[in-house]
Amino acid sequence: MSSFAARVNSITPSATMAVKRAAEELKRRGVDVIDLGPGEPDFSTPEHIKEAARQALAQNFTKYTADSGIIELRETIAYRYNQNYKTDYTAENILVTSGAKQALYHISEALFETGDEVLLPVPYWVSYPEQIKLMGATPVLIQTHAHEGFRLRAETVAAQITPRTKAIIVNSPNNPSGATIERSELKKIVELAVKHRLWLIYDECYEKFLYEGAHVSAAEFDTQHVITVSSVSKTYAMTGWRLGWAVAPKELIQAMAKLQSHSTSHPTSISQHAALAALTGDQSCVSAMLSEYRRRRGFLLGELAQIKGLKYSAPPGAFYLFPDVSRFFNREIHNSSELARYLLERAQVAVVPGTGFGVEECIRISYATSGEQLREGLKRLREGLQNLC
Ligand code: PMP
Ligand code: GLU
Repeated sequence: MSSFAARVNSITPSATMAVKRAAEELKRRGVDVIDLGPGEPDFSTPEHIKEAARQALAQNFTKYTADSGIIELRETIAYRYNQNYKTDYTAENILVTSGAKQALYHISEALFETGDEVLLPVPYWVSYPEQIKLMGATPVLIQTHAHEGFRLRAETVAAQITPRTKAIIVNSPNNPSGATIERSELKKIVELAVKHRLWLIYDECYEKFLYEGAHVSAAEFDTQHVITVSSVSKTYAMTGWRLGWAVAPKELIQAMAKLQSHSTSHPTSISQHAALAALTGDQSCVSAMLSEYRRRRGFLLGELAQIKGLKYSAPPGAFYLFPDVSRFFNREIHNSSELARYLLERAQVAVVPGTGFGVEECIRISYATSGEQLREGLKRLREGLQNLC
């Protein structure tokens, strides 16, 4: 076989997607697996959003759209930020993409090159370091600590800034830890970005899933250095529709739009109409999902308390718990990947190893899964771990 480009050898496949694939493969072989792996709501997309998609089809919105996204959707997204955060964005500040993942990808493509350093707090969502490396840049890891609930501090960020620093990525609520950033710390990080002329990439995909405190968005403090990324994937249970966006200064949006125009062109026309209905329609579906997540979170925390040796905190956001399982490592199981493999093969429960998020001692448990699955999954997890003691 002929050779591949070096860039593809520098990255690993998505750890979250790999768990999903492994669990599905076992299910296909008839194994009864409980999947606490994916960060994917188990809810169906709300009916009024599906209806908007059916209408889009009926009205033949099945052709190419503007390559930055349909104007109504871009205006709606800008309006939403302006209402919530007193910004003055217009459609020119918005790029509609095929999920937040593609927005992040185009941001990396537009900004990073060889020699650049990108500050990346640990734990990080699996795709950030790989996207940075794909562009030839270097992720510079910033440690946060389990005993502080993985909260990010501005002073730790400041200590890592060098003349090569190009950007800082902040994800709040965080995947995988569920940690949120304090308003005062975020303000200080934005000030650092302004002072050192850096980009602050703020990923708020889980903005609606908060169990304590209020969401804070970096665009409240600055709109020249802040790039905000979000999507309908989690908020409206629309992961498969592939619809997200970036909000940024218009020159950066134009640069990203150029890249998008030569790759996917634009997200699916039908998904764009569905997203418009999601953002402009009744929001009670979001509060209903939040209440259910809150209930599951309470259940999960109660269950984990009964597993001796597990260390964890009660995170304020997202729909994950990220317990430290290092107490269960032994002569055969040396790290979270091996532990996750053991749990999948021996206890038939899928979790994501912390390795992919930069924390070797932890596993990620998603509670974006039905109550029944969660109950059975936790039983298997407890038995699986206890068998290691
Ligand atoms: N950012 C974070 C923190 C995520 O967890 C995910 C995965 N859902 C994404 C971005 C990508 O989301 P999307 O499905 O909108 O591409
Ligand atoms: N972001 C979700 C997760 O962390 C979905 C998978 C992915 O896009 O990586 O599980």
